[in-house]
Amino acid sequence: MLKQDVHRAYNFNAGPAALPLSVLEKAKGEMIDFEGTGMSVMEMSHRSPAYDKIHNEAIALLKELMGIPEEYHVLFLQGGASTQFAMVPMNFLGQGQKAGYVITGSWSEKAIKEGKLFGETYEVASSKATNHNRIPGMDELKIQQDSAYIHLTSNNTIFGTEWASFPDTGDIPLIADMSSDILSHPFDASKFSLIYAGAQKNLGPSGVTLAIVSPQMMERANTANVPTMLRYETHVKNNSLYNTPPAYGIYMLGLVLKWVKEMGGVQGVHQFNQKKTDLIYNTIDESNGFYVGHAVKDARSLMNITFNLQSTELEKQFLAEAKAAGFVGLNGHRSVGGCRASTYNAVPMESCEALRNFMLEFQKKNG
Ligand SMILES: *Cc1c(COP(=O)(O)O)cnc(C)c1O
Repeated sequence: MLKQDVHRAYNFNAGPAALPLSVLEKAKGEMIDFEGTGMSVMEMSHRSPAYDKIHNEAIALLKELMGIPEEYHVLFLQGGASTQFAMVPMNFLGQGQKAGYVITGSWSEKAIKEGKLFGETYEVASSKATNHNRIPGMDELKIQQDSAYIHLTSNNTIFGTEWASFPDTGDIPLIADMSSDILSHPFDASKFSLIYAGAQKNLGPSGVTLAIVSPQMMERANTANVPTMLRYETHVKNNSLYNTPPAYGIYMLGLVLKWVKEMGGVQGVHQFNQKKTDLIYNTIDESNGFYVGHAVKDARSLMNITFNLQSTELEKQFLAEAKAAGFVGLNGHRSVGGCRASTYNAVPMESCEALRNFMLEFQKKNG
């Protein structure tokens, strides 16, 4: 348990994940009467001035924090990143066109599967041969010049790998699923034509899906035979207020953005994340093989630390003892096995220190 007046777990859940305690407390304080309206944000009209301010402030702050070009559209959608897997090809992969996907894990595989429903797809590169423990090198990317877009997954939540730098695709639009590392480190958003992310890892509660799209990309969108709600154009034209948005989730997302700003912006959060993950990765590296990281070093994720112990027996014991000691969410995903610690933006340093100490103690007793 964290040393605070309230009971807070050492939460390493992969998603939904930990939120900043200060954000939860602020939301608690405003739950019943938001800024003198006599209503919770859950109870107010999404057409009211009070909600309008929440909505537009969140968009403006996101642009500021991520350095998103002014003319880009920031959208709050629903259906999770999983719906984006289909919306992307539905809107941008026309008849007779093809799209390239870089396959770096289960989420990329799910994305290409939806792409195939709408047009021709191909693998730009794949890390499957080594169970997705690395990110393909730039020289491995086989980009076909007439592609409608190239899609990649910036952080592979399940396998614990992350792109250190992004490919230059020239005139071909670059699209990224950033569900599990958005706002965790600085990058040049103007290199991307479309970015999307489910909110429940780094941005807020589940139920909101962020999409960021360039005006040039919108000019390429198909609208024929695309249902109204599944057209980006609908949400661009209506500032994500075509229908009732996930208002409370957007309010929470806005509070998380304010917290990121207080942390020193994305730069500040990045340094904080590096300190946190150094604690755990160093523990793995200094364990003389007692703990073995899944990802190769230059592809290690700042958000999801995947590791194994020498036997499944020992892993079971590790996870059982960790659970008893108050750690939550350390089980690895079934496709990798072993252990995974998700150290998203809001995971406090204290949780990582506690995990490091627990890992050292466990090795001392069992090594
Ligand atoms: C969690 C996750 C998803 C799935 O998101 P949903 O919002 O549950 O649909 C997709 N891609 C990545 C990289 C993820 O981490």
